[in-house]
Amino acid sequence: MDYSQVRDVDPDVADALSGEVQRQRDTLAMIASENHVSEAVLEAQGSALTNKYAEGYPGERYYAGCEYADEIENLAIERAKELWGAEHVNVQPHSGTQANMGVYLAMLDPGDKILSLDLTHGGHLSHGHPANFAGQTYEVEQYEVDPETGYVDYEGLAEIADEFDPDIIVSGYSAYPREVDFQRVQDVANDVDAYHLADIAHITGLVAAGVHASPVGVADFVTGSTHKTIRAGRGGIIMCDEEHAKAIDNAVFPGAQGGPLMHNVAGKAVGFKEALSESFEAYAEQTVANAKALAETFTEHGLEVVSGGTDNHLVLVDLRPSHPETTGKDVEAALEDAGIIMNANTVPGETRSAFDPSGIRLGTAALTTRGFDEDVTREVGELVVSVVDNYDDEDVVADVTDRVQELCAEYPLYE
Ligand SMILES: *Cc1c(COP(=O)(O)O)cnc(C)c1O
Repeated sequence: MDYSQVRDVDPDVADALSGEVQRQRDTLAMIASENHVSEAVLEAQGSALTNKYAEGYPGERYYAGCEYADEIENLAIERAKELWGAEHVNVQPHSGTQANMGVYLAMLDPGDKILSLDLTHGGHLSHGHPANFAGQTYEVEQYEVDPETGYVDYEGLAEIADEFDPDIIVSGYSAYPREVDFQRVQDVANDVDAYHLADIAHITGLVAAGVHASPVGVADFVTGSTHKTIRAGRGGIIMCDEEHAKAIDNAVFPGAQGGPLMHNVAGKAVGFKEALSESFEAYAEQTVANAKALAETFTEHGLEVVSGGTDNHLVLVDLRPSHPETTGKDVEAALEDAGIIMNANTVPGETRSAFDPSGIRLGTAALTTRGFDEDVTREVGELVVSVVDNYDDEDVVADVTDRVQELCAEYPLYE
């Protein structure tokens, strides 16, 4: 990855690209939505397919010269069907948000009603936040997690659904550490005659590997991102039964998008092939085991882990009980100085602002890609705790930085 061709044309961008690779090598990526794709996926995404217009779908394009685009999109679709067991798959959404837009556009009219989880309780902007097109186009009501347990308040969801009479209920979240009971949400959707969209953006890889219950065959629509736990590069995906196939395909193109990003579809195909290998199951299991080890380490050191632990790849910490004077941004900045990259996050019952919230969210998907096991993850947990306890102590942060550098060297990336 020397970017020599870019360097000839544009040294500034080449420097930044090399800098980014080096940054990923020298830091621990613990943003729960991030991962490191293989060099095979990078190569596919950087391919000449970026030149190709392929509006339409395999076998029915609006442009000539699509034989290789067709082959690649068909491979991505077939592999996705095998990974998740869906009847119909659309691999063209440019992102997870675009995938959700596809479902809304296919099934809702402007002014229709969406019932989704509150953003500060772990939801996503594209589930109907006022700053997002979904919140501006549809009428949105929100459910919450139980403030005591940190688990989704399924009873509350049923009560709100009864009253609000939604057209679609959205499950699947951005900052929720527990297994989602998709069947329970489906039961509510059945009771109020609403569609159910399960957005598995974060847990696509865990679902594919069978370490998290699957909403496929339960919910009407399943959307996901392809760059988080599934490691197939930037993008989105929609899955549904044959019954809705035409509506979904028409909503993605021409409804919400123009031509597909075929180089990214190629990345998806390659990443899905990797995910079909046996080693991927071990990867997904280790990712969850590492997150559990991280949550235990935090708890042992007196941090308040939301919901008391985790079932997936992420851990959410509420700093208020143990560190009432410390904000998520304080910790985020100090950890960044130390080479541990994660994000400040709102927590259920948030009392501060979304810009400087009371919690931190950490994921283990990228560390596990580097080869971390529970023992090393525990050590990383202890490093995080020491920075949380001493975020304004330069000596402590310097010591943690040294150890992070050693760990990065021990678990190399993109050699
Ligand atoms: C990450 C995420 C998405 C997709 O985000 P994009 O940045 O648009 O790819 C969608 N839904 C949820 C719940 C997410 O966490």
